[in-house]
Amino acid sequence: MRLTPSGKKLVTLIPGDGIGPEVVESARRIIAATGAPIEWEERQAGASVFKRGLPSGVPPETIESVVKTRVALKGPLETPVGFGEKSANVTLRKLFETYGNIRPVRELPGISTPYSGRGIDLVVVRENVEDLYAGIEHMQTPGVAQCLKLISRKGCEKIVRLAFELARAEGRKRVHCATKSNIMKLTEGLLKRTFEEIAKDYPDIESSHIIIDNCAHQLVKRPEQFDVIVTTNMNGDIISDLSSALIGGLGFAASANIGNEVAIFEAVHGSAPKYAGKNVINPTALILTAVLMLRYLDEFDAAARIEHAVLVTLEEGKVRTGDIAGYDKGTPTSAYTDAIISNLGRKSERWRVRDYKPLKLPRVSSKPDFVVAKTRRVIGVDVFIESSLDAEQLGRSLEQLSAGTPLKLKMISNRGTKVYPATGAITDCVDHWFCRFITRSADGGLTDEQLLGLLDRVSGQHRWTHLEKLHEFDGQPGFTKSQGED
Ligand code: NAP
Repeated sequence: MRLTPSGKKLVTLIPGDGIGPEVVESARRIIAATGAPIEWEERQAGASVFKRGLPSGVPPETIESVVKTRVALKGPLETPVGFGEKSANVTLRKLFETYGNIRPVRELPGISTPYSGRGIDLVVVRENVEDLYAGIEHMQTPGVAQCLKLISRKGCEKIVRLAFELARAEGRKRVHCATKSNIMKLTEGLLKRTFEEIAKDYPDIESSHIIIDNCAHQLVKRPEQFDVIVTTNMNGDIISDLSSALIGGLGFAASANIGNEVAIFEAVHGSAPKYAGKNVINPTALILTAVLMLRYLDEFDAAARIEHAVLVTLEEGKVRTGDIAGYDKGTPTSAYTDAIISNLGRKSERWRVRDYKPLKLPRVSSKPDFVVAKTRRVIGVDVFIESSLDAEQLGRSLEQLSAGTPLKLKMISNRGTKVYPATGAITDCVDHWFCRFITRSADGGLTDEQLLGLLDRVSGQHRWTHLEKLHEFDGQPGFTKSQGED
């Protein structure tokens, strides 16, 4: 955290696009009214920056400011569709390794939903930088696309520890880890295994695993059973939006992107361009986001006062924004903000604010070789081939080509199902074949020269598009089997 000469905490403020400047202004006025010692450094990102011709949407002066202040409050940024630019939001999250996306979801007074009265009060902790969002995609053939799902042990350990630390800081009792480890045993399974190991360091918190699809089902059926849910990036993207809808939707959904060096606070919603400049939208999501930021900055008193004021304002229901009351009779954003300011210092009788403690950020080793195997060997290679042959023809050809080499063809699969040797499965094949070759020798590993020798023979007759070594680390296979593979 950077202090100004007058001892205030310096925060980068990014107004953003569309309704961004209005919600940011609302939060800024409320924070000022609490007297919290915050000073803003305003910087731009998003549409205005894309228009200046900067394809990242994030100019150097904004990056410099966040590097200096380490904390940013930002409005939504528009992602132009079809210009080939990356999302400026994703760029910001990735630039500063904000690996944890924290989304609290709590029932609010006066916001009527099918779940009202059930006391929903949970937090989704979503891994924010890895998984399918690493953005590594390829067309392996003209008709087959691939997206790499990258999950690291280091990334899992950081997000799992963050979830347990958050539970402790917020006095929560239980953490669920939600994964699809039944299907993706290595990637999603890595989060589950890491979770089960790290949970032992937090005996005061109850821990359990839940399959992500059941988690979605349980969230709709009995959301009040959840306290903290930690999950991978893609799963978290979906269930955190689902969870926001349980308590009234995007006008109320706050979020924090937390890293060990930098934290970026933003509402879940986007720039809602149709409401831009009309003074009608609901700023509560960004106000509650500002509450998360104040707690992060150890301004617990100001955070609690704002949270109480929001609860009182919503409970009394005298002012209601257009998304709740209807846009023809809703309270303007500015008047709603005034009402919250006038309620600072008041507390609801019924709606409590948690007793928060500072969040202890997990510190794990920054070494790139986070996991080192004692033993390792290469026992085969998967060669992806583009071919219009059928499975039998390709299989026979590859058997012939590998004859007399240290590798033999074990099987071919197509779209994840084994098709050679034939199993009787009815598979609608495409011209993208996953061909698994394994060593003929029980001991010892394969050398690169031996793998390249095989590739040299294969490429004489077929078009290969991708290679993957088959490793064994500490005696454990580092690969999974195709459907139908023995
Ligand atoms: P959106 O801006 O979140 O708006 C979708 C709808 O949600 C709005 O039309 C409105 O619903 C409602 N809504 C959103 N915020 C509200 C608020 N504060 N108060 C009341 N109602 C609110 O999603 P979008 O239209 O898909 O995206 C627009 C742009 O925002 C896109 O360029 C997108 O890339 C960007 N975006 C940015 C972020 C970010 O910066 N983190 C996140 C999401 C999207 P009704 O129409 O029903 O009134």
